[in-house]
Amino acid sequence: MHLPFLAAVVPRGATRADRVLCLSLLLAALPAESPAQVATPRRFTTESPCTEAQRAAGCLIVLGSGTPVPEPDRAGPAYALLFRDQLFLFDAGAGIMRRVAAAGLRINGVTGAFLTHLHSDHTIGLPDLLLTTWVMGRRSPFPLTGPPGTKAMVDHLLMAFAEDTRVRITGLERGQPNGPGVTVHESMGGVVHDSADVRITAIPVPHSEFAMNFGYLIELPTRRIVLSGDTGPSLAIEAAAKGADVLVHESYPEVRLKPEDRPGGEEWPAYMRKVHTSDAEVGGLAQRAGVKLVVLSHIVRMGGTDAELLAGVRRGGFQGAVRIARDLDAY
Ligand SMILES: [Zn+2]
Ligand SMILES: [Zn+2]
Repeated sequence: MHLPFLAAVVPRGATRADRVLCLSLLLAALPAESPAQVATPRRFTTESPCTEAQRAAGCLIVLGSGTPVPEPDRAGPAYALLFRDQLFLFDAGAGIMRRVAAAGLRINGVTGAFLTHLHSDHTIGLPDLLLTTWVMGRRSPFPLTGPPGTKAMVDHLLMAFAEDTRVRITGLERGQPNGPGVTVHESMGGVVHDSADVRITAIPVPHSEFAMNFGYLIELPTRRIVLSGDTGPSLAIEAAAKGADVLVHESYPEVRLKPEDRPGGEEWPAYMRKVHTSDAEVGGLAQRAGVKLVVLSHIVRMGGTDAELLAGVRRGGFQGAVRIARDLDAY
């Protein structure tokens, strides 16, 4: 332990005995170093969570299972689909590029990226995605699909980092001259990608008062995966999820929903019922759609436990496989 600061708190003119006493009192007042503090820090690997077989069929990786709450073990909402040598990203929550690296995915660009909607928890990692992939060697734009407003957001972000981009290109760093730009496609829903055995459809869903909010249906030769995005109960998601192999759905524990103790907090239950989907509602939807696996992610917990969420899904009628997503899980 380095203690140079102790010199500053020992009184001037103190005798040697005084100094020793003073130092020992200060040392005694410091918290003891616990074994956890001196142990080697936790290391993330860059090992792929997908097996070769999963990658061949299409492997969905949870990059971030979190919410706006900055939980240390949950990055902001983001998912990766790895299919053969193609990499697709859905949403760009906080910490996205660290999780891309932790999943052993390439860090210098993607086949395509898609935004569900423009809430900040789903887009706050967008400058990271744009700029880090470029700094790491990306030479050309990749397609970025999102709702109306995506282009303005990207333009503003690139403008905000214009000085960084200029210095990296014109300075001795000699950055890739094409810059961190992407090709933005604003959609109102429908098929947004159909190439090399991957079809991706944007599904309009009811969420906050943006011009548009999407879930996504991913169709591969042998797998069908649905991401709900942020949504209230949605018949369109239910239809897309018919016979799906995986339904990743946002949720909250119904039993925990009550007014909050703050100005306007009496509206909280009505707000949640309108723009999000309870565990029991996910259970009902999944049962009617006949999905094979339900993954709850982006959960507004309100203190709810995994067991409560599972019970909620069962109460809704779904008796099949259910997982509570954790970062770097793969399905
Ligand atoms: Zn949202
Ligand atoms: Zn959200």
